[in-house]
Amino acid sequence: MVKLYETVMAQFDQAADLMELDPEIRKILSYTTNEIVVNFPVVMDDGCIQMFTGYRVQHNNVLGPYKGGLRFHPQVDIDEVRALAAWMTWKTAIAGIPYGGAKGGIEMRPWDHSPAELEAITRRFTFALGANIGPEYDIPAPDVNTNPQIMAWILDTYLQMMPPLERNRATHVVTGKPVESGGSPGRYKATGQGLVDVLEVWAKDYGFALDGATYIIQGYGNVGSWAARLLEPLGPVLVGVEDHSGALLNPEGFDPDELAQYVDAEGRIQGYPAGAAVDHRTFFGTEADFFVPAALENQITAETAPWLNVRLVVEGANGPTDCDGDRILQERGILLIPDVLANAGGVIVSYFEWLQNKRSEFWDLEETDIRLKKQIVGAYHRVRDAVERYDCSWRTGAYIVALARLEQVYKERGIFP
Ligand code: NAD
Repeated sequence: MVKLYETVMAQFDQAADLMELDPEIRKILSYTTNEIVVNFPVVMDDGCIQMFTGYRVQHNNVLGPYKGGLRFHPQVDIDEVRALAAWMTWKTAIAGIPYGGAKGGIEMRPWDHSPAELEAITRRFTFALGANIGPEYDIPAPDVNTNPQIMAWILDTYLQMMPPLERNRATHVVTGKPVESGGSPGRYKATGQGLVDVLEVWAKDYGFALDGATYIIQGYGNVGSWAARLLEPLGPVLVGVEDHSGALLNPEGFDPDELAQYVDAEGRIQGYPAGAAVDHRTFFGTEADFFVPAALENQITAETAPWLNVRLVVEGANGPTDCDGDRILQERGILLIPDVLANAGGVIVSYFEWLQNKRSEFWDLEETDIRLKKQIVGAYHRVRDAVERYDCSWRTGAYIVALARLEQVYKERGIFP
């Protein structure tokens, strides 16, 4: 399988060639800045010690502190984290927020651990990262298999390592916290909300009727389930859903809220009564108007892209489409709204949370939603302008927006010494 970071660089090269990115700046942006790997021991419930490997890759911070999620998954490795960190650099640049890009995670099977073990693993990882994260330096957030509870443990552990006098000034070391622990209203749904905001404005611009449209979703976790719940009032019908446990189809349409409640209780879609179980191939071939991949990377590939029977792909996940997949979608005339734009809502509201913590403010949900929409629709317009100017795909247009911003800042600041 193609390494994920090679996918990032192939996407980068396409945009850099088209926009004629300064070759000197191209050299800088081809590298990550720091790559931290920590091996750490944790005492398990039975008294045995298990060793874990954790990562934090800091890709670039020329626009602001490093920012990006933490993933707990057996597939986590340095290549995946590198790629995810680079995507964060582009995403924050496109979103117009003052952050760089980073990503991290632990190679582990979270479902094999009790809540007490998960807490111990999270706290020990935070301790191992030490001063490599910080509220004005590198700010983690949730990603696959991490959630507000895990962010609260990171916050608490980080604060314990600080001098008491400084603790209350550091709650913005992590975002995606529970609201009571300094989180922002609306962070839980922000990635899904941003995806819906972008899709709505795109659909209006390009005459794509959402009301009555059918769609399928892969991944019914944070991003997928919130995208489905928030799409509901706009009228599209969810006819297929897949997660790690299997795939279900229902031509009459699923009730997104009810399905989310089932997944909250059971941890999977398998066994949900209002749908017929189908295999992966059948799910991918479902006839629908659009597809929201919201699970993991490398899902739309040379093998699966020919199966798709949709008009549009809206990437909720990071990197769900590899370069072959992209090419095949383009050849087949299937449009695509890329991850670095479509799923930027999460990091935008993380930025709002960070601002509220720094200023000791508390915004309500309405204010958060209005500001999110303004920010992400602004990003959408920047990308649309680049797509029109360069007559390119939306992915390449999005990269051009990011690279142009980074190029400008490097040129203004110069290279030390
Ligand atoms: P999550 O852990 O809440 O949900 C992940 C979902 O993917 C689950 O439904 C899981 O069953 C499903 N899944 C896992 N393996 C699968 C497989 N092999 N086939 C089908 N489904 C599978 O994670 P999330 O936070 O919703 O993240 C999903 C994607 O969105 C990731 O790519 C993540 O990087 C990206 N993303 C998340 C956020 C955020 O704010 N959480 C922000 C931007 C991007």
